[in-house]
Amino acid sequence: MIYDASLDELLQKVWNGARINGADALRLFHLPLEELGTLADHRRQLAKAKAYNGRGNEIVTFNVDRNVNYTNVCNVYCKFCAFYRVEKDDDSYVISHAEMDQKIAETLALGGTQILMQGGHHPKLTKQWYLDMLSHIKNKWPQVNIHGFSPSEFVHFRDVFNEPLEKIIRDFKSAGLGSIPGGGGEILVDRVRQRVAPLKAMSNDWLEVMDIAHRLGLYSSATMMFGHVETIEDRIEHLERLRVQQDTSLNRVTEYNGLGVKPAHFTAFIGWTFQAEHTKLKAPTVGAHEYLRTQALSRIYLDNFENIQSSWVTQGLEIGQVALKFGANDLGSIMIEENVVSQTGTTFRMTVPDMQRLIKDLGYEPHQRDNWYRLVN
Ligand code: SF4
Repeated sequence: MIYDASLDELLQKVWNGARINGADALRLFHLPLEELGTLADHRRQLAKAKAYNGRGNEIVTFNVDRNVNYTNVCNVYCKFCAFYRVEKDDDSYVISHAEMDQKIAETLALGGTQILMQGGHHPKLTKQWYLDMLSHIKNKWPQVNIHGFSPSEFVHFRDVFNEPLEKIIRDFKSAGLGSIPGGGGEILVDRVRQRVAPLKAMSNDWLEVMDIAHRLGLYSSATMMFGHVETIEDRIEHLERLRVQQDTSLNRVTEYNGLGVKPAHFTAFIGWTFQAEHTKLKAPTVGAHEYLRTQALSRIYLDNFENIQSSWVTQGLEIGQVALKFGANDLGSIMIEENVVSQTGTTFRMTVPDMQRLIKDLGYEPHQRDNWYRLVN
C-alpha cells in the first residue's frame, strides 16, 4: 500500500475541527465507514461541548410533536411523492379547525410541544384561510409552537397570493407562525430538482425563503433527501449551499445591535433517504451504509450547524440509534402522526419509552427538547 501523507493531513484537519472544502468531502466520503463515523462522532463532540452547561456530550435529545398535513391536494406532482392527491380524488382533504383542535389536544396529552404543519400546494386555499388557521391555533393553544410551511409552500403562496415573500412570512409570523421546517430541500441543485420535482421551488427560491425567515427572526431547520438521481458531488453542493446560508444568517446574528427583531438561523440539519414505493420516480434508493456515510459527512461539512438529527422515520429505530454514533446528537421526534413517508409503505413507529431506551442503551442521557433545542422539564 502507498502511504499518502495528504490523507493524514486531511484527517488531522477534520479532527482539529477545521473547515473542509468539496474536494476534501469527496475524499472523506470514500473512507472506511467506521473511520468516517469516528471523525463525525468527534466533530459532534466539538459542536456540542458547550451545550447544556457543558453536558452536551452526555445528552441526546428528542422532540415530541405531531405532523399535521393540513391538505393533501397538490398541483406540483413531485415524482418521489406518494402523498399528493388532486381535488377530485375521493380521499383528498383540507383540515378543519375542529380537526386541528382534536389533533393538538391529543398532542398535548402525550407531552408534545409543537405541531409540524405542512401540506400540499393547494391551488385554491386563500391567504385568509392560512391566517385564520394560524390565529385560531395561537389563540386557543398559545403554548404550542407552530413549526409550519416549508419554503416551497411559501414560494407557492407567493405565486397564488401575488405578494412578496417577505410580506407573506411577516403576516404569517404575526398570525402565530413560530418557526419554519426545512422540508422540500431535497437536493439544492437545480439540475436534480428539474428531474425529480420540476414544478417545485428551485434552489435559490428555497434559500431565499430561509434567508428572509432568518432575517425576520424565524428559526428553521434544513434537510436533504438523497439516494435517488443525484450524485455524491450534488450532495456536497447541497451541503455547501446550506453552509453558506448559515454563515450569512449567523453573521447577521453576530452583527445584531439589539435594535429591532433579533435575527435567526438554522437550528439543525436532517438528512433522509428517498423511499421509492408508490412513487413515480424510477430510481434505486440507498441503504443504511450509505445513509450513515452521508450523515457522517454532513456533520463534518456543516461545521456551523450545532445539531444533526438522525432519521429513524426512513431508516428504522436501530439505524436511527446507530446514527447517533455517526455525527447525530438528536433522535428527532416521536411524530405522533406521520402521513407522507408512510404513504410509501415505510411505517416505522416510535414512542417516548422507545426513544429513551435507544438513547440510554448507547450510554447517553435522554432529554426531551423543544424546537430551539432547549431542554423540556
Ligand atoms: S412532495 Fe409536497 S409539493 Fe411535492 S407533490 Fe408531494 S405534497 Fe406536493
